[in-house]
Amino acid sequence: MNEQIAVFYQTVTKQCSNAHSLRTICELVCRNLIQSFSVNHLQLIIKYNNEWKLLLELNSKGIQYYFPPAIIPTTNEHYYKTVHYYNNKTEASIDILPNYRYILIPLKHHSAIIGHLTIAVPLESNLQPKHLTILAALLSAEITTELIKKSTKNHNIGRINAEKALLSSKEQQKSLLSYLQNMHDISFQLWRNNIMEDMLFIAVEEGKKRLNIDRMAIFLFDEQKQMHGTFGTDINGKTVDEFYFKSAIPDQWYAANTLNDKEYIAFQENTPLYHDLKQIGFGWSAYIALWDEDTPIGWIACDNLITGQPLCNYHHQLLKQYGFIISQHILRLRAADKLIKLNHNLEQRVQSRTKALNQANEQLQKLSRIDALTNIANRRVFDETVMTEWCRANRLGLPLSLLILDIDNFKTYNDKLGHAAGDQCLKTIASALSKVERRAGTLFARYGGEEFVLLLPGQDQPAAINNAQRLLNAMHNLALPFPSESKKDKAIMTVSIGVSTIIPSQTITYDEFFKDVDNALYQAKAEGKDCFRVLLPELI
Ligand code: GH3
Ligand code: MG
Ligand code: MG
Repeated sequence: MNEQIAVFYQTVTKQCSNAHSLRTICELVCRNLIQSFSVNHLQLIIKYNNEWKLLLELNSKGIQYYFPPAIIPTTNEHYYKTVHYYNNKTEASIDILPNYRYILIPLKHHSAIIGHLTIAVPLESNLQPKHLTILAALLSAEITTELIKKSTKNHNIGRINAEKALLSSKEQQKSLLSYLQNMHDISFQLWRNNIMEDMLFIAVEEGKKRLNIDRMAIFLFDEQKQMHGTFGTDINGKTVDEFYFKSAIPDQWYAANTLNDKEYIAFQENTPLYHDLKQIGFGWSAYIALWDEDTPIGWIACDNLITGQPLCNYHHQLLKQYGFIISQHILRLRAADKLIKLNHNLEQRVQSRTKALNQANEQLQKLSRIDALTNIANRRVFDETVMTEWCRANRLGLPLSLLILDIDNFKTYNDKLGHAAGDQCLKTIASALSKVERRAGTLFARYGGEEFVLLLPGQDQPAAINNAQRLLNAMHNLALPFPSESKKDKAIMTVSIGVSTIIPSQTITYDEFFKDVDNALYQAKAEGKDCFRVLLPELI
């Protein structure tokens, strides 16, 4: 037997010295075991990635080498696992079974069990575990080397993959950066737009171009949860007006989450793509909600219908950012729109208020120029007019006549009939006397109390005298009863009048002129009332 062993090892060592792979060594070992010891079953199990796996098997079908090591066949599983490997036997042993003797040898590397070799030999064989110690050592060494080589190789492959991944992530980062730069540029363009429609068009058109998106559409929601189209993209990639589009918010996979979670962006790959609610293809699509604080106001829909370009990692971040930018611009323009409307309303209100104010002013003006009791021009109008006319007459060298009227014995009237009757009397007299002279430019005004004035620009003395006479006549025609002592004496209300005419010059002031007229009135009173007195020209 010893000689047999020696020959076996000699052959194996010699053959193996030329072999370069574990596979060849395993096969050589198998063949020599068959030849030298009539071995008919063999299994070499190793620990691979922390699991027991089958590396080599010899059975009725021949020699099988598995790399990467295979799962242990279930037929023998129970025996090997429970009897042998699970116990992690550290010493070689022999099991005698009805047809074979099984020699079980642990393979060690620095005292750690790295595998188990199981060899079945005929019952009559003398082969002992100790004969196979060197073989076990040889196989252990070869297996360890091979596994280290493989793991280094794997490690290398891993390193190369990691480098590749790093490179592509760097590239992605670079393109993400350039996309972010593009987005910044779009944002600038959007800022320059103050009309909602134009802004939305640019958002879709430039968004596609600069962010490398095939198709994009922006939808806005109204308060009734209806979504309205704005601009979208047709099946050829052209930006088109979709304002006609209106529909309920669709009951689709993307709607619920997108509109509930502000951070959510719905992506779906291999999904049907739509245009005008008709399916037009397959690809990825994304939905990004647009927000006003915590309220969804619309969304951007994107897909890859035209080029079919794959979804990239950065799409997520990019589109979310884009959604944020578009939301801001929509809100900005809505606020501006509101402001314009508000301004318009305010302007209209100001306009109508101004109109009302003007009317009120006019009324006030009128009121402030009309004597409240008698409804004829008041003292203020007279003061203004007389000064204007004085200057005009002075400039043009025209005559100016003035009459001052005073109701006779009015105090008595008041005293006898009461103040209210006095008021009524004043009204009646004012109304009657104001109608006496209607020529343009003349002014009949209440000067105060029971005194009136008649200003006659451009009228000379005869005309003034004519007027004075007509005023007296008017009083006589009116014949307002005056409460007299005796019933027989049927007295009426009368007036006295002072009259004067002047061509204004630097030698006399208006005040002096007025005083002269007043003196004329005083004369009329003094000389019996119910008459007029004229200040004669030579007295001026
Ligand atoms: P003479 O003929 O000298 O003018 O006598 P007279 O009584 O008219 O003159 P006087 O100046 O003594 O009295 C004027 C009166 O006119 C006194 C005043 O009570 C009355 N009077 C002045 N303004 C009003 C008014 O608005 N309503 C009423 N009812 N009376 C007035
Ligand atoms: Mg008086
Ligand atoms: Mg009087």
